[in-house]
Amino acid sequence: MTHPAVIDELMTLVDPGKVLTDPASLEAYGKDWTKHYPPAPSAIVLPKTLEQVQAIVAWANRHQVALVPSGGRTGLSAGAVAANGEVVVAFDYMNQILSFNEFDRTVVCQPGVVTRQLQQFAEDHGLYYPVDFASSGSSQIGGNIATNAGGIKVIRYGMTRNWVAGLKVVTGKGDLLELNKDLIKNATGYDLRQLFIGAEGTLGFVVEATMRLDRAPRNLTAMVLGTPDFDSIMPVLHAFQGRLDLTAFEFFSDKALAKVMGRGDVPPPFDTDCPFYALLEFEASNEDVANDALATFEHCVEQGWVLDGVMSQSETQLKNLWKLREYISETISHWTPYKNDISVTVSKVPAFLRDIDAIVAQHYPDYEVVWYGHIGDGNLHLNILKPDDMSKDAFFASCARVNKWVFEIVERYNGSISAEHGVGMTKRDYLGYSRSADEIACMKAIKAVFDPNGIMNPGKIFAPE
Ligand SMILES: Cc1cc2nc3c(=O)[nH]c(=O)nc-3n(C[C@H](O)[C@H](O)[C@H](O)COP(=O)(O)OP(=O)(O)OC[C@H]3O[C@@H](n4cnc5c(N)ncnc54)[C@H](O)[C@@H]3O)c2cc1C
Repeated sequence: MTHPAVIDELMTLVDPGKVLTDPASLEAYGKDWTKHYPPAPSAIVLPKTLEQVQAIVAWANRHQVALVPSGGRTGLSAGAVAANGEVVVAFDYMNQILSFNEFDRTVVCQPGVVTRQLQQFAEDHGLYYPVDFASSGSSQIGGNIATNAGGIKVIRYGMTRNWVAGLKVVTGKGDLLELNKDLIKNATGYDLRQLFIGAEGTLGFVVEATMRLDRAPRNLTAMVLGTPDFDSIMPVLHAFQGRLDLTAFEFFSDKALAKVMGRGDVPPPFDTDCPFYALLEFEASNEDVANDALATFEHCVEQGWVLDGVMSQSETQLKNLWKLREYISETISHWTPYKNDISVTVSKVPAFLRDIDAIVAQHYPDYEVVWYGHIGDGNLHLNILKPDDMSKDAFFASCARVNKWVFEIVERYNGSISAEHGVGMTKRDYLGYSRSADEIACMKAIKAVFDPNGIMNPGKIFAPE
């Protein structure tokens, strides 16, 4: 733990009352959504300016104190967890939208701007911020950038990385760097902005970000389709992609749907029970597009790939269909799920899922397994639910034993052990399944450049040596 006199010095660097050490704050700010690791930070500091962030970093280097950047704490890999006496740096008071340029379609955000706040700002200006997922009401732009967040619109719009025009960062060394100057074209050597995107706070702090916006989509329309088996989902994707520009293509299993239905506040999509469901979305900008969608649906039924389906006819129906997918994560959190967030190239998904499913059936015969995910991007979320009568520790230990087999398959398919949630602490021991030893050595060398004293989020991405 950090010495009290050193914490007293920290208090002089920020506004009065902006260093918290009470047990409730340490508990709340020391963890993220994973809740695997007991939080144990020394203090929480809430800077208001980027100069204060620089002062905090200089202080941490002077006293060799580890810092954990903290956003909305919705992360699913324990990236924002402070379990070892670190000082948490949280951005609750750096949460303003600073400026908007309607010609460049860019918005300058402080790191603590909540994702939904940026989406709403864009909507209020007739534009669109397309990165979206179930936690967007709490997650922050700084956290989204640090995890290169993906979500439900990646098939059309890509990851957060695509929407970052420029970044201001304070490195672990204390330098303030302005990266890319918001340019579209900039061929002047290494693009350091991209290194900080997805770095999980291990290189420095995102203290300002210029985010791009897009034109608002026209008449978004969703379809939910029930399929007789998993193998039918990819031909359905292929058929729709051949005729429409999809803005989303998600899937979920009957078990996932049953959990959401169990809440009692979402209408079922239709009466037919199906083992798997696809949710797709497109812009029905004119009648031809809607007719194309219906013709493709009929083709899929004729082929036996689809058993039943529904298409939204109103904004309310669109929202209700999305709830079937968007509520899964939050609903199953009741069963303390062990989460895997794995990806392969889209063409490999059917064979990959079959192999993983066989391993899961063999090793988790007594656990409830819930599949869903951003299948149009080759990203599957495998969730193992904790039996009510089992302790959290025993459950996680038994799941961790199976990881080896799951990740061996991921490696064999040239896939990723973390598609979008990040490595944090939960996946750090498995990094070698997705990255070669040479790549990991390069990543560590890059960290040493920006963070020579190792004060930035130690123990995240890389296992402690
Ligand atoms: C219900 C639910 C659904 C989700 N769905 C998705 C999904 O579909 N796609 C997806 O990608 N993710 C999803 N997530 C995961 C999570 O919401 C994202 O990873 C999100 O980007 C995290 O943002 P945050 O602000 O909460 O970050 P935090 O959890 O606070 O932190 C995440 C990481 O970013 C670092 N960090 C935070 N702020 C900064 C900063 N200013 N500078 C440097 N580093 C920083 C932290 O140290 C940590 O390593 C979901 C989570 C939940 C709970």
